[in-house]
Order: sequence, then structure tokens, then C-alpha cells
Amino acid sequence: MQVKRSRLLAPFVAIVFAITAGVTPTLAEEKAKKKAPTLVLITNVDVWNGTSDKVQKGVDVLVEDNKIKNVAKGIKASGATVIDGKGGTVTPGLIDMHQHLTLNGGTDAGNNWDAYVQGAHASRAAEYLLKSGFTTIRDIAGNSLGIKRAVNSGVLPGPRIYSSGPALGPTGGHSDWGSWVAAPGEENYQMKVQNTFVVNGVDEMLRAGRWIFRNGGDFLKVMSGGGVASTFDPIDLNSPSLDEMKAAVQVANEYGGYVAIHGYTDAAYNKSLDAGVKSFEHGFLISEKTVKRMKKEGVWWSWQPYGSYNTFGMGNFPDWFTADMRAKGALVAKGAVQVPKWMKKHGVKIVNGSDMFGWDNWHNALVNVTYPVEIPDSPFTSLDTMKMSTSSAGQMLQELSAPSRNPFKDAKLGVVKKGAWADVLIWNGDPTRDIKLILKKDNLKMVMKDGKVYKNLLVAPTHESYRPAAAPSGHSFSM
Ligand SMILES: [Zn+2]
Repeated sequence: MQVKRSRLLAPFVAIVFAITAGVTPTLAEEKAKKKAPTLVLITNVDVWNGTSDKVQKGVDVLVEDNKIKNVAKGIKASGATVIDGKGGTVTPGLIDMHQHLTLNGGTDAGNNWDAYVQGAHASRAAEYLLKSGFTTIRDIAGNSLGIKRAVNSGVLPGPRIYSSGPALGPTGGHSDWGSWVAAPGEENYQMKVQNTFVVNGVDEMLRAGRWIFRNGGDFLKVMSGGGVASTFDPIDLNSPSLDEMKAAVQVANEYGGYVAIHGYTDAAYNKSLDAGVKSFEHGFLISEKTVKRMKKEGVWWSWQPYGSYNTFGMGNFPDWFTADMRAKGALVAKGAVQVPKWMKKHGVKIVNGSDMFGWDNWHNALVNVTYPVEIPDSPFTSLDTMKMSTSSAGQMLQELSAPSRNPFKDAKLGVVKKGAWADVLIWNGDPTRDIKLILKKDNLKMVMKDGKVYKNLLVAPTHESYRPAAAPSGHSFSM
């Protein structure tokens, strides 16, 4: 028996030994690898750090793994891969505060696409935006909760994503995308795939809000009044109620997030301010008095200058816009010319979001970044515009979320400073002096997000500095 047993055990012992012998050195190797950080030194550049009024001339940027280790003149870093910036300007990656990755066909027209197509398109949009220089986006209505998880964990290419998940609003409001013959409470396809929720009453608001945070939402998007690209809501719709808005804020406070509202009018804005909302979209029809109140209460205003002035004001409406939508859009466009002077005069905290939806509209996200200077009589400069789309947005994202709710709490976003996330662009030229140069694709020479290079026109693909820290696989666009 003894002999038999040892014969039986022998193969197991051999296998265990083989596994131990094989695995132990590999783990040690892995550990050793982790101890040696990836260093990338960007030289021969001027640096705009995201907050300064000046560009620093001839400053180097040292990146260690996915953070910025140092920004200074003449940095020495042995073992670093050197990226020669060829005299370009380093800026932080751009942040788009109003995206709709999964609303590919708009709101009404979105019913023509199933969730598979919407997801496939959203993935392409995310990659396109990243390679256009957007290293972070805030997706603010539409079910991007899964895309967010996939991109933020490196499975799919794209910018860092903060997501609201489905928009929340009342029957007949801006998030009611059902048909005219739908019965009360009847689900349409966009509700089934959680791009939008129609909620009525405090209890429904609490239930829907908690579901969003449960599923990884970073904040809530609430339609506090009428909108342009929706069928049933006049622009001055004054619903949801104050109690419903307070319920949304209550849920956000419970879960460490915040509420961002869609709204255009004084009524929509003041009701939301009364409820404790901190993040405001659009707002083109509000009065100067409300602008002053926003400044006083220290809330954030995220505007969409391209969509509201160009798309609505110059008659460039999407095909599916009805006559009603066009009339509402024309009204909003007038407001888009009125509010910029009050924004600047009263010093409200401003960020910029493109509000892109629809097929192949993505390039307009960059056009939108330039629009604060394009609107007639706008007081904003190229420098103001760059701050809105970098450091101000980064500050807002980190100010409004509790650390437990913020996927990128460990470092600063929107700045090129020691300790910040390594989200870095290199431009041919200085966009803080001439914002329009960002519209020429070849002027964006390099895109780095999280320390990884996604676009590099500085050297040939065979050069050792082409991908000093390679991006995850699966990237298809060449830009
Ligand atoms: Zn929007």
C-alpha cells in the first residue's frame, strides 16, 4: 500500500514542483517589472499648464507611468524615452463636458437604431474624440454606463468617461422620447435600453436616481424644463416640480454625486438653484439677475456655444428637426449671443460642452471648443476658451463628486502640473493665442492619455519614441 501510494503521489508532487518552479520566478519578474516605472520625457516644447495666463518657454515634461512627475527646464531622466516635441506647445488634454455617445440618431430618430448599433457607434465616437484631443468627456444623457466601464478599464479606446446614464424628466418633458400615441407610462425603446427615463413624482425620481448610482453613474442629468430637440415640451415648460428636483438632489447627496440640469429659462434655473443643484447646462434664455445669482451661489455653468449659435442660429438643423424644434432653436440662438457678456462680466464658473449627437457629427466637438470666440460680440479670448475646456472642467469634475464617486480622484484633471494625470497634447502652434488652429487635424501632433500615446505625428511609426508607452490594443483610426 505504501509503495502504491507514493507511486500515486509522485506525479502530483512532480506537478506541484513544476508549477512552483515555473511560477515563482515569473511572479518575481513581474514584481521587478512593476518596480521599474515607464519614464517619458517630452523635450523641445513650450508648456501651457491649463491655469496660467502665460505659456512657459522651453520647459520639459517628465511622465512617470500615468502621472506627470515634473514640469521644469532641463530635466534629466535616465532610462526615459524622449519625445522631441519639435518646438510645439504642450497643453492638457481637452475635456468635453456635454457628450451623448449613445444618442446616435438624436432623440426621436434614435428609435431607429437598436442598442447594438448605438453601442458600436458610441465606441467609434469615443475613439474619434480621443484622437481629436479629448482625454476626458462627461456623457450627460444616454446609457453610456457600460461604455464608461469598458473604456475606463482599458477594454475599449476612448477618453476618460464620467457618465450620467439615462436622463430623468417628466411625462411630456425633454427626456420623453415616446410616440404621440403612447399611453401614460408606456415604455419606448429608448427607455428600455436606458437612454432615458420618464419619471413622475418624488418616489419615481428616488428610484430612478438610485438605480443610476447603483449601475455606476457619476451624477444625475435632470431635464428641468423644456428643450429644443424634443417633441412635446415648449421651451418654457416648468416641470418637474420643486419637490421632484429636491428628490434628485437628495439622491445625489446620498450617493456622493451631484445633479446637472438641462434648462433654458429663469424658471428652470431658479427652481434648480432652490433645490440645491450645482451644475447647469444651456441657460441661454436666462436673465442677468439669474446670472448674478449663479455667481453668488458658486455653481457651474456648462454651455454649448456651437450647437446653440451655429446649429440653431444659422439654420444648420439636423434633418429630423420638426418645424416646432426649429422655432425653439431659433429662439435659443438669439440667447446664445446675449449671455456671454454676462458670463464674463459676473465671473460665473464656465465650462464648455459640445452636445453632439447624430451620425458622424463628432468633428463638431472640436469646432465647439473654438466657439466661445466665434459668437458675435463674445468677450471671450482663446485663452479663456482653453481654460473652459481644460482646467476649469477638471476642477468642476473633482469639486462636485465625492472621492468615493469619482473614478479619477487620485490626481488632477485638465492641468499639466506635477502629480496630475498624464493627459497631454502637443500642438503645432499655441492654441491659447489662436484657438482656431485646433481645427486643422495635422496641428495636433501627439495625444497622450493616462501616460499612453494614442496619436503621434512627430516621428515615423518605426521610431523608438512613436509609442513609448503603448495604448491598449484595438485601435483602428489613423488620424
Ligand atoms: Zn445635450
